[in-house]
Amino acid sequence: MSVLVTARFHTTVAQARQLPPDGIPEVAFIGRSNAGKSSAINVLCQRRRLAFASRTPGRTQALNFFAVGRGDEITGFIVDTPGYGYAAAPGAVRGAWDALAGTYLQARTALQGAVLMLDIRREVTDLDRHMLAWLPPALPLVVLLTKCDKLAASRQTIVRRQVMAQLAELGRGDQARVLLFSATTRKGIDEARAAVGHLLGERPDEPKKTPTKG
Ligand code: GDP
Repeated sequence: MSVLVTARFHTTVAQARQLPPDGIPEVAFIGRSNAGKSSAINVLCQRRRLAFASRTPGRTQALNFFAVGRGDEITGFIVDTPGYGYAAAPGAVRGAWDALAGTYLQARTALQGAVLMLDIRREVTDLDRHMLAWLPPALPLVVLLTKCDKLAASRQTIVRRQVMAQLAELGRGDQARVLLFSATTRKGIDEARAAVGHLLGERPDEPKKTPTKG
């Protein structure tokens, strides 16, 4: 069972000074507004409305922390960052995003990796490039090409290759894993769960040893 299915709401951070202590492994989920981030978080965590809690007024421009860990133990956090790129007041919103999410992504020691949601029909946009510039150069990246059910399988493969090339051009090719993903058809869920779990320090169960006689 993936550790992600233990996710529960932990805290909302509207200003950097409210961040919880920097230490337990964190993975940030990032993406343009409407890229499918909430749907991806909900389906990966097997919770219908977990990430939609981030839509509550007062939480939309905040970092929302979801704790993972078995029982009462917290072994990691999934950090839902504000979707970027709403047309309304782009300058002001971008400034606010940079001040909180950008700074968090750049400076957080506990950050083990980022999951970037890209709508497969839009690939890497200028806003995504702006955001990527905040990430530490060697940070592991899991890229989910979301809503892949909207394209034919042959087209999905072509776009995946294009996105890998675009990331390589941005100097992110080596540490990025690009997965086809659909919250609707559940394509890519197992791989995405394994990749995020790995970033949070989860290791696959040891193969069970059969006791040998004698
Ligand atoms: P967010 O703004 O990035 O959190 O995006 P949402 O998760 O709210 O999704 C934006 C829109 O895309 C919604 O209308 C979703 O129903 C739709 N959507 C999300 N994931 C998928 C998917 O895998 N397939 C399809 N066809 N639509 C999706």
